[in-house]
Amino acid sequence: MKELGKTGFLIHPIGLGGIPIQRVGIQAVKQIIDAMEVHQMNFIDTARAYTNSESLLGDALFGRREHFFLASKSMAKTYESMKKDVETSLSNLKTTWIDCYQLHNPRNINDIEGPLKALMEARKAGLIRHIGITNHSKEVLMEAMKLGVFETIQFPYNFLESQGEEVFIAAKRQGLGTIVMKPLAGGVIENGPLALKYILNNPNIDVIIPGMGSSSEVEQNQGARLGAYLPEEEALIESMRTSLKEEFCHRCGYCLPCPQGIDIPVLFTFEGYHERYELKAWAKERYASMKVRADACIGCRVCETRCPYHLQISLRMKRIQKIFEKC
Ligand code: SF4
Ligand code: SF4
Repeated sequence: MKELGKTGFLIHPIGLGGIPIQRVGIQAVKQIIDAMEVHQMNFIDTARAYTNSESLLGDALFGRREHFFLASKSMAKTYESMKKDVETSLSNLKTTWIDCYQLHNPRNINDIEGPLKALMEARKAGLIRHIGITNHSKEVLMEAMKLGVFETIQFPYNFLESQGEEVFIAAKRQGLGTIVMKPLAGGVIENGPLALKYILNNPNIDVIIPGMGSSSEVEQNQGARLGAYLPEEEALIESMRTSLKEEFCHRCGYCLPCPQGIDIPVLFTFEGYHERYELKAWAKERYASMKVRADACIGCRVCETRCPYHLQISLRMKRIQKIFEKC
């Protein structure tokens, strides 16, 4: 067990990422929570954006809420909408407090004043206990940390995406709680225990939140251990890095802005939810909610000249368009 930043809460280094909860029923969610309790896994992360994930967790946690550190988050962009989202999360989760409420992936740190004010008021009122921020952009998180108001940060990190090293070092220096999302690189890495072992070996990480949709996944993940790599594990990591080098989107955002306004890394993320997780309906809904979609791509390839990983973005946009058109 380890303290999450300076929250005073001791947590197991492996927690629950709440995205897959959306595709399983209440019995499965109860079994996941049962298995977590057995292994003292006590960190749960969900979000307003994960459809019924908060509600299912609220039902499954009935009578044992206080055994868990519960985190949720909202993409609200105004004071009023954030205030309302905190109330909705509390109601869905059937609790009187949320341990950490996070600004969910704000695109620009200059736009967070209103929602942050709402969270600070909610903390003062005892509705939430800590304020965090999640992001896919290290630049945004580095800026956010300068404000000195956040108590946790959440960023992608895995053996294919190590651009978070710098962010996690800076966060630890400030005593912030560090939460790793996308430990399996959005489902690209199939060897879960090896992926978690890689992250557990980083002393700057407090908790990893793999998405778990069954109690057997909890059992599998709780067995992950830190320690030295076996030669075959090192070879496997290296071969995956090499084979996926020009295929895997690191969500760095260097390809932006697209002259057509396409949010390239976000579309790649939805593609992953659709193709590698069983979340087709949710991915389709999120894709449909985008103002600019893959069909807006004119094939100019400006983005490709900026992508440090040489991804064939214009071709991938055609593929994404096809995937979501046939849904
Ligand atoms: S190729 Fe498509 S995605 Fe890339 S910059 Fe041009 S319009 Fe945008
Ligand atoms: S497409 Fe390339 S530049 Fe754009 S976010 Fe992905 S890895 Fe980064």
